[in-house]
Amino acid sequence: MTTFAELGLAPNILRALDDMGYATPTPIQEQVIPLALQGGDILGAAQTGTGKTAAFALPLLQRLLPFANTGTSPAKHPIRALILTPTRELAIQVEESVKAYCKHIPLRSLVVYGGVSINTQIPILKTGVEILVATPGRLLDHVQNKTLMLNQVNTLVLDEADRMLDMGFMPDLKRIVALLPAQRVNMMFSATFPEEIRKLADSILNNPTFIEVARNATAVTVTQVMHPVHHERKRQLLAHLIKTRDLKQVLVFTGTKLGCNRLANELNKIGLHADAIHGDKTQQERIKALDAFKAGTLRVLVATDVAARGIDIEALPFVVNYDLPHNAEDYVHRIGRTGRAGASGEAISLVSESETRYLKDIEKLIGTPLEATIVPGFEPGAADVPAYQSRPPRPERPAERTGERAAERPVVERPVVELLPERSAPRSQAVASRDALFDAPYVPSAVTGSASAAPAVNRQPSKKPVAALFRSPVKSEPTGQ
Ligand code: AMP
Repeated sequence: MTTFAELGLAPNILRALDDMGYATPTPIQEQVIPLALQGGDILGAAQTGTGKTAAFALPLLQRLLPFANTGTSPAKHPIRALILTPTRELAIQVEESVKAYCKHIPLRSLVVYGGVSINTQIPILKTGVEILVATPGRLLDHVQNKTLMLNQVNTLVLDEADRMLDMGFMPDLKRIVALLPAQRVNMMFSATFPEEIRKLADSILNNPTFIEVARNATAVTVTQVMHPVHHERKRQLLAHLIKTRDLKQVLVFTGTKLGCNRLANELNKIGLHADAIHGDKTQQERIKALDAFKAGTLRVLVATDVAARGIDIEALPFVVNYDLPHNAEDYVHRIGRTGRAGASGEAISLVSESETRYLKDIEKLIGTPLEATIVPGFEPGAADVPAYQSRPPRPERPAERTGERAAERPVVERPVVELLPERSAPRSQAVASRDALFDAPYVPSAVTGSASAAPAVNRQPSKKPVAALFRSPVKSEPTGQ
């Protein structure tokens, strides 16, 4: 088995990897690191959870080693590497990893993203940083304010390029790329490769090596379970599963921000400590919830797809699809939150009759049917007989016949199904299910100054009275990130 040392990494980087407990490179790291160390452009097909952050960050850092210094002058610390990510959460996580990888190297990193005051970022930028991790909109805010210079960038990384496309960041990306020196190394990662992504790659990358992590090469195993249930009984079933199976750390996906808030509130009312993250929450609220969840003090984190994107929690054991995603690709993204870096996880889907068609799409995409397991006491019921009842429910087991209490019975007993990487799906479907906050393309803060100047699409507060409960995303996060 290849070691990190054999990939040609420097001793002070190896030390950091040792500190982090990385014993051997993942497949994507094995392939990307040697090539990137030589300075070749790379187009990587890899989903989150494969170790792609280290795959691009480690060679990037090694190539910056000659510039590492402890000088205090900002001129000694120009931005030399730019890493762009679609979401704030991913940006934060990437920068945390970069910081950890440079623990023994005097290179500085910073993350900048929208939704927080730009003023806290400016003083740090002024002191100089070599590695900048940014979301596109906020980066352009800084460019507009002249609070950073990109003329010494020698490495560009585009992480989750397909997500950037989904979120309407293409114009921003093109503006940013135009500001960079022509002579540079480029790495672009994407889970899927629709036509637009290929075009983007053609325009940005210079004779790239295409690297694809073999299907299931990360040996990520996710047990997938599907419980048919009447839609009105989903909350009770979720509570039942959390309690009877004593689930300690559960990420629950809902289809809407409103549903997300409601579910978290209802779980709290019955004593299951829950919080919600979605596009209408401030960055501080999201970070607080995420930190509590990671620390294990928050039992249930209820999230919408976009808010949860990029969440990286070591060995997250359970993901629940409270609502099935309307875009099958999102299912793969969701269950990719579990079983990271070789650990195993369980994805539980609560499926009502009206979601049968989404279930079919998912099964088609992952190439395997999700076998239905009816939880005793939560039968879908005559009023809600879904198509999946054509598959017979699990046969009665001896324990059930002898009167074992339902609450004590193990609810699931499913074969382990390997998590398949994403494949392309129509983008239009993906866009339709996004959080409004993330959809608008970049509008410079200084120019807009007000909500009215923001693009109308998906940015208007809901007309329903209940929207008054929520903070306006436009006001709180003017860049749309
Ligand atoms: P990523 O795909 O970059 O988001 O990485 C997923 C998770 O795997 C992160 O928690 C990393 O810290 C972890 N990881 C990445 N590479 C390795 C490795 N070689 N050994 C162990 N863990 C790793």
